[in-house]
Amino acid sequence: MSKESRKAGEKVVTLAAKPRRPCPICGRPAVKAHRPFCSTRCADADLGHWISGRYCIPTDEEPEQTLEGETILPDGHED
Ligand SMILES: [Zn+2]
Repeated sequence: MSKESRKAGEKVVTLAAKPRRPCPICGRPAVKAHRPFCSTRCADADLGHWISGRYCIPTDEEPEQTLEGETILPDGHED
């Protein structure tokens, strides 16, 4: 519990090195091991999202909107 306390002579390269994006699922800070997600859980959730959302369901119907309200193919936006 004293890891973060010792930064006297240690290299601090995590901050300001790369802008961390928040987890697209829950909005928490992403973890390097699971980026861009914060955890396996969210990564998994996103995976399931894609699979059930638009990847593994070949259909002639156009995807309208995801449950998140994310517009994938805006109407009238061609080319
Ligand atoms: Zn998350």
